Amino acid sequence: MKQLLAFALLMIAGGAHAATRTVDCGRLLDVKSGTWRERVSIVVENGVIKSVGPMTQAPASGDRVDLSRHACLPGLIDMHVHLTSETAPVVDAYRDRLTADPQDMAYRSVKFAQRTLMAGFTTVRDLGAADGLNVSLKRAIASGEIPGPRMFTAGKSIATTGGHADPTNNLSHFLSEKVGTPGPEEGVIDSPEQGRQAVRQRYKEGADLIKITATGGVLSQAANGQNSQYTEDELKAIVGTAKDYGFRVAAHAHGAEGMKRALRAGVDSIEHGTLMDDEVIALFKKTGHWYVPTISAGRYVADKAKTPGYYSDLVRPKAAAIGPQLQATFARAHKAGVKIAFGTDAGVFPHGENAKEFGYMVEAGMKPIEAIRAATLHAASLLDQSARLGQVEPGFAADIVAVEGDPLQDVKLLEQVRFVMKDGVVYKQP
Ligand SMILES: [Zn+2]
Repeated sequence: MKQLLAFALLMIAGGAHAATRTVDCGRLLDVKSGTWRERVSIVVENGVIKSVGPMTQAPASGDRVDLSRHACLPGLIDMHVHLTSETAPVVDAYRDRLTADPQDMAYRSVKFAQRTLMAGFTTVRDLGAADGLNVSLKRAIASGEIPGPRMFTAGKSIATTGGHADPTNNLSHFLSEKVGTPGPEEGVIDSPEQGRQAVRQRYKEGADLIKITATGGVLSQAANGQNSQYTEDELKAIVGTAKDYGFRVAAHAHGAEGMKRALRAGVDSIEHGTLMDDEVIALFKKTGHWYVPTISAGRYVADKAKTPGYYSDLVRPKAAAIGPQLQATFARAHKAGVKIAFGTDAGVFPHGENAKEFGYMVEAGMKPIEAIRAATLHAASLLDQSARLGQVEPGFAADIVAVEGDPLQDVKLLEQVRFVMKDGVVYKQP
């Protein structure tokens, strides 16, 4: 409550969209060149950056934010989150499955969105939720009802029967009969025709992009964590229809064959990519498509697999086998020059810990500036928002974060963001 009140006050103080404000930064990271600009004033008008120039002597005005002892960066962007759910021991997850309504999950997601924004992530791509919750959450945030990151959302992920995002996996016969067999409307397809229908359904429901589960996955109640789950015909129908509607397509994949089919069909990004082989790497380089690593999720599930009873008996061996491999895969892909956009799979681990991914990326051989580019320039490019997001430049959305110290020296400083502005509204102050 206290936190909510603080938000309300900050938003009033921020003047929502009306006022012109100036943000004075001790230094500002130019993410393109990878260099610092010292003592910079950023003028923000109506939520958009109007100018970026040398710091002038502050006139006596309440509309200045003093970050003269801080380092400013563009707002961070996470390409893979699930803002309407969060990891829990299997017993709680099953209880929710039996007793929680979508409305319960919707109220919970409010704090997940808040935590994500307060961690410095001003934009996210939400890659799948049930019951249209993520589309509604996006609307609530966009209209200023609740604080949260700017969302681009897939609505419900599209799977095949029994696939990673089939919501009825492993239910008892009794419950299966009650629930019924999910179809394209619920995001489960078994033919190219149904694939096209599922994409059009997402369009109708207000999604911004399409997410498919091209292979098995770790946390679904199913035996295989990596098998191919679509025919090439189905993939081509989905990707082709998605393009008709201006959607980009993100493909969850752990197994190499599923990645090859998805990349050949023209998906824009592969999520996780755990078991990619040299042929997959060559396909990435040939197509120029993006890799979104989600090392954080790999580390978290590998760790939780050690706790008896945290995951179900079906999930636990998959988490133990696949989780630990992600960081090494990332290292190999990065070394080979695959295009990488920052993504964590937050929700698989607690929301708000997204920035730990930077440390994991650097630990695996990436330079801090490259990791920051992955979460700014590159993420904006994968979103098709390069003219509006990912940089602090005139004409861009006024999404600015600040830290103390130099994140190019110690990237883990990004885990302690002191200042957050989104669309010109201040949500967090030093
Ligand atoms: Zn995910």
